[in-house]
Formats: sequence, structure tokens, C-alpha cells
Amino acid sequence: MSDDKKPTRILTGGCLCGAVRFRVEGRVRDVLFCHCSMCRLSHGHYGAYAGVKQAELTVEDESAVTWYRSSDVARRGFCSICGGRLFYHPHESPFIGVAAGSLDQPSGLGTIGHVFTDDAADYYTIAADEKQYPGAPTR
Ligand SMILES: [Zn+2]
Repeated sequence: MSDDKKPTRILTGGCLCGAVRFRVEGRVRDVLFCHCSMCRLSHGHYGAYAGVKQAELTVEDESAVTWYRSSDVARRGFCSICGGRLFYHPHESPFIGVAAGSLDQPSGLGTIGHVFTDDAADYYTIAADEKQYPGAPTR
């Protein structure tokens, strides 16, 4: 289902210590697992991100979020206190990735598949029947 046909949702979430809470009201792209080395080093494993429009994301206390410019492409937001990984934001993009694990349950979201599988670590196997993209998603 294309994102513009999806229902509007209200999702909430936050970090481990609760210093950062956020709310999304809008259409939410289902989850992509990202196997790039930067997600691996940041998360300690592969990343899992839902996608939202930045304009539809409200962070209650922005001052509790530290932004790290992880590359020329994007920055990553995490809780300044507990280190909980929360956001992935490509520079200049109207869209922002929200770490799926930070969402309050139930999120009602599904999984699209795996991206940057060429960069996947060697200690796990991606199920062959799950959608895989060697680099960025092509859809
Ligand atoms: Zn925290």
C-alpha cells in the first residue's frame, strides 16, 4: 500500500528514561530494518525505523535530544540522558526515521523489509523470504 493511501495514525513513543517523549500524527511508513554499518555501530545491531513526515512529529522536550551528524547524508537523534536511539534524519528531508523500538505498543505497524543488506554483519542471517535491498530502498 502506498503511503498516501494509508490511514492517519496517532503514535507515541520515547526513550528508556522517559526524558524524551514524542508524538506522531499522520501517515506512517512501515518499518525498514537497516543493516548499514552506521546503524550497526549506533544501535549495537541493525536499525529499525518507521518513517514519518517531520512536520507531523512533535517532540515534547527537544532539549533532551542530542543530534549527531553521522555522515554528510544524515544526522541521528538520541536521548542525552539514557542514550536511547530515537531518530534518523536525512539532511534537508521532510521525512524522518523514528526508531521502531521507541514506539509505544501496540504500534500497529508492519515491516517492509531490509535495506543495505550488503553491509550486514556476519553473525546473523536474514530470512530468505523477507524483502531485501542490497543498498537503499528502491521503492
Ligand atoms: Zn532518555
